[in-house]
Amino acid sequence: MFDIDAIRAEFPILKQQVNGKPLVYFDNGATAQKPQVVLDAIEKYYTDINANIHRGVHTLSQLATDAYEESRIKIQKHLNAPHAHEVLFTSGTTFGINLVASGFGQLLSKGDEVIISELEHHSNIVPWQFACQRSGAILKVIPFDAQGHLDMKAFDALLSPRTQVVAVNHVSNALGVVNPIAYIIEKAHQVGAAVLIDGAQGAPHFKVDVQALDCDFYVFSGHKVCAPTGTGILYGKTAWLEKLPPYLGGGEMIKEVTFEETTYAGLPHKFEAGTPNIAGGIVLGVAIDYMNEIGFDAIHAYETELLEYATAQLTAIPGLKIYGEGKDKAAVVSFNIEGIHPYDIGTIVDKMGIAVRTGHHCAQPIMKHFDIPGTVRASFMFYNTKEEIDILVAAIKKAITMLS
Ligand SMILES: *Cc1c(COP(=O)(O)O)cnc(C)c1O
Repeated sequence: MFDIDAIRAEFPILKQQVNGKPLVYFDNGATAQKPQVVLDAIEKYYTDINANIHRGVHTLSQLATDAYEESRIKIQKHLNAPHAHEVLFTSGTTFGINLVASGFGQLLSKGDEVIISELEHHSNIVPWQFACQRSGAILKVIPFDAQGHLDMKAFDALLSPRTQVVAVNHVSNALGVVNPIAYIIEKAHQVGAAVLIDGAQGAPHFKVDVQALDCDFYVFSGHKVCAPTGTGILYGKTAWLEKLPPYLGGGEMIKEVTFEETTYAGLPHKFEAGTPNIAGGIVLGVAIDYMNEIGFDAIHAYETELLEYATAQLTAIPGLKIYGEGKDKAAVVSFNIEGIHPYDIGTIVDKMGIAVRTGHHCAQPIMKHFDIPGTVRASFMFYNTKEEIDILVAAIKKAITMLS
């Protein structure tokens, strides 16, 4: 049973008023809100067991280490990863992609090819530009069509024996389109390329099975799955994590250090230099447990209802155009109103307590494709409601009257 009132009661921030109106939080694509269990777990960690991990023999250090490693196993199970050492704690998606791309920057040769897509977030573009600049590899881009679908014929044509890496997002943060990653992974593997999936918008809405997908890397941010900022996960297949050079040097990632030579620790520690966000890593496991208790099937069914309702209500507004019209979408509606700048809509609806995102959503190539300065983006989580969508629709109508 999906009890929306009970769910909303667990998110203290949703109870507040903003600008004198009940908060309607539709900026979940930027960051999700935190349930009470997550807030409590942060406090409990610092109140009861705060200590540095993997180092001390003392009791608190062991308790903190155990909690941190238990969280890693939780996330391993959640992703159906074969091994816990394939689950690396990071500070977020950006860090995870940079770790992988920086490593490939050292493994790639001149003339090798890296494929990304026109639908990527800047954090899945720029690190690959760095890698290509350093190695002399060539960056290729899968285009998308008017509906926001990646062109799979173009992708097939881009693949070659020189393709070493394909890096695409699971779900576009700017349009909400779900990409055909199973197809992309299968095709890329046929030419021997590694595949990185930017799951920043996938992990909050889908139960991901990395073995079923057979991706080589899956990356996501904790803060978009109800955990704190500064947390994230990089799943990588053992063979690739062994092949990639370390990213950060420092404590924890070494086996032996002399001034002549340093040997590296095994996985996952090779990639976890320095004191991590210990509380955050533990609490990420709590957030994942929380979402699994609600159930990703129930979450998906409910969010699909919200998405369909919002799409229908918004489409009925004269002059409103939705970008990303595919059948296969996650809970994001990105739109503009003819003759009105997205920023003006965002500002007016904020006065009515509604948080939406306006701008290019860190995906400028998408805006360039559509030849627009940006969009208004309403992105939903399982704690949003149809009543909130009604409030947004009324606010937009009011904004249109005020601005025209
Ligand atoms: C949010 C997001 C990122 C970046 O995540 P950070 O948490 O800022 O590191 C990357 N890709 C997509 C698709 C995103 O939505």
